[in-house]
Parts: sequence; C-alpha cells; structure tokens
Amino acid sequence: MNCKTLSQASHEKEVVRPRALGEPVLVSQPLLPQLSELMPILEQIWERKYVTNHGPLHQLLEAELRGYLGVDTAMLFNNGTIGLITALKLFDLPPGSEVITSPLTFAATAHAISWNGLKPVFADVLPDTLTVDPEAVSRAITENTSAILGVHVYGTLCDFDALSVLGASHGIRVLYDAAHAFGATKDGVPIARFGDASIFSFHATKLFNTLEGGLIATPNAQDAEKIYNLRNFGIKSEEKVVEVGINGKMNEVQAAIGLLNLRHVADEKAKRRQLRKRYCEVLVGLEGIQTQPEQPGVENSEQYFPLVIDETRYGRTRDDIYDELKERNVFARKYFHPICTDFEPYRHVPVVSTRAIPYVTEVKSRVLCLPFHSGVSQDAVTVISDVFHGRS
Ligand SMILES: *Cc1c(COP(=O)(O)O)cnc(C)c1O
Repeated sequence: MNCKTLSQASHEKEVVRPRALGEPVLVSQPLLPQLSELMPILEQIWERKYVTNHGPLHQLLEAELRGYLGVDTAMLFNNGTIGLITALKLFDLPPGSEVITSPLTFAATAHAISWNGLKPVFADVLPDTLTVDPEAVSRAITENTSAILGVHVYGTLCDFDALSVLGASHGIRVLYDAAHAFGATKDGVPIARFGDASIFSFHATKLFNTLEGGLIATPNAQDAEKIYNLRNFGIKSEEKVVEVGINGKMNEVQAAIGLLNLRHVADEKAKRRQLRKRYCEVLVGLEGIQTQPEQPGVENSEQYFPLVIDETRYGRTRDDIYDELKERNVFARKYFHPICTDFEPYRHVPVVSTRAIPYVTEVKSRVLCLPFHSGVSQDAVTVISDVFHGRS
C-alpha cells in the first residue's frame, strides 16, 4: 500500500474532533503476547530448570524462524547489535579494513563495524528509497574495502542487484542490516537470501520482538557452525575453544515470547497495513510530503511509516510538525536524525556522494516517523490529520 495508489481521499465525516489525545501515543508499542498464554510456558521453563544455553524453546524458535525467513542458516542472538558484530566477524575481514555503510541508520550499524576494529565509511543515500546509493558506494570503494553493509532503512529495501554486482566485481562481502525488514520479500524471495548475511533485531520496538533479541540469517548452511561457535565463546567442546567468541545467546524466556509473538505477527501486520492506508488518506494531496516508496514486487515489513517533509513546498518544517504533534500528545520520531556522521566518534568521517552536498545532510532535517502500531486509535489519526492540515 502506498499513497500514490490511492485514487481518492476519503471524505471525513463531521465528528467531534479531539484537539489533543488524553493518553500519549508513541512511535512504537511492543507487540506482547497475552500473559495468560505466556504463563503456562514459563511454568514449563521453571519445571525444566533449563533457562538458557540453547534450550528447547531456543531450538524451536530458531527452527521456526529458519522457515519463516526462508534461509538455510538462522541463528538467534541476545540482541541485534551483538548479531551485527558477530556477522562482521564471521567473514574474517582484514583488521582495519573499510566497511561501507549508510549514515542514515541507528548508531549500532556503525558501532558494530568499529567494534570489529574495522573502519566505517559512509556513502550517501538515494532520494527516493533513502537506502545507500550504489553509485556513491562504488566511489567509496578502495583497495582497503572489505565489505558493504547495506541498511534496509524503515523496511525500504536496498538495491540488491547493484550492490551484489559491486560485491562480486570487487571481491568484497555484502551484508544487510535488516533490523527493519523482518519478513519482507522481493518477488516472492525472502530478503535474507540476498547477500552474504542479513542481521535482524528483535528489540521491543521492532514488529517481531523478543523484548531484546536478534538473528543472523545467511543463505549458506555451512555458516551455522561458525556462527554457533562465535555466539558461544568459541567453545567447541568441554575442553576446546576454537574462536574468539562472544556471549550472544538468547535465553528461554526471550525464546518463549518469540514463539508466541510469531503467532501474532500476521495480525499486527494487517492492522498496520490498515493504519498505513488511513495515514495515506489523510496525507494524499498535501504538497511536499513524501511517503515511503512502494517498491515493485516487495512485500513491506510494516515496521515504520516514514515521511520526508519538504518545507519549501509544504510551508512548514519537519520540526514544526514534530512540535505540534508533541503538544497534542503524539510522539513522532526524527529517525534517523542526527545521522551517524553527526555523532562524536564519526564526526571526522566524510559522506561519499555523487553530489556536491550529500543528499543525506539535507534529508536528515526532513525525515519523520509517525506512530505506527496497532495501538494508534482513530482519534490519534484525526489529531495527526489536524496537525498536517493546519486545523487548530
Ligand atoms: C534496532 C536496530 C539495531 C540494533 O538492534 P538491537 O537489537 O537494539 O541491538 C541495529 N540496526 C538498526 C537499523 C536498528 O533499527
């Protein structure tokens, strides 16, 4: 669903319009199972006294996700950041080598590169998808480049074809931060089949969550053993340590929540699709408001509802809208502003671009994510509509 496919705005009926919401509405709200479905499973865990270290629920969830994500290797982690760090470790990239990524992402993407003793290099984003620009990536490649880490930001997919051509022609790895793209497919193909590895986050803010959690997916069955070792201190057997591993294990309570949430994901996604439609009806026809692009053949992950607000055409700035929403108890987020190169550790790193001024430095002050989850009421949509249409 995309705003452009809507032929006509729905005519809003005369209703009592709340000026502000009684309860705050946040950008995300964790999908949680009913306590009544969780309790019997917790009782079983307590009974077994098997609470972590690849327990039975962990194994079950891993098997289910392997199927859901359509990959040969799907390895759970205690969070997405440790998953990212471990995925970069998987390919033995030369120490100090460069990994090209997008500056328009959550800090963890760049930090995972740095934590591996690798050098993050930032390439500009494309104006339509806001994912990394393959042309800029191509310019950023040097003899020290060892990998590209694309980000499916807001669930909008990277240009797989162009990045895989770059990866193959330069003999470098292509990985994807898929934290926003759980369950997305392209032409029916699950996205984790593209590239060398995709890393998911199951943090509470993500559509499918285990409170904290993550996963590395790869299209290669052979990767499982090395990831397993890296996740578990490199321990191969009781008396053998074969890798500089970390503790990336997910515990049984997290796995239980994951097993239950996996049953509710389809329902939550359907509700978000409806919300996307309602937002589009509200925004259609507003000059200077760009919604998430509809990518041909792509099933959207329904993670975020991002907007790009062009103040020169719309008349008001992103920050005006953000503040007005906040006054009415609606908490949108300026994801991802500031961008990585605004952060202290990366301030000296330039953004490689095909333009004189990187597009990302313009768009960062225009992006806004509206509250996007099943807890967003019709009243909230009305209040948001009033703000965008300048009704008091
Ligand atoms: C959430 C997120 C992460 C980090 O995941 P955690 O599970 O919170 O460690 C990484 N990258 C992106 C783009 C994210 O949104």
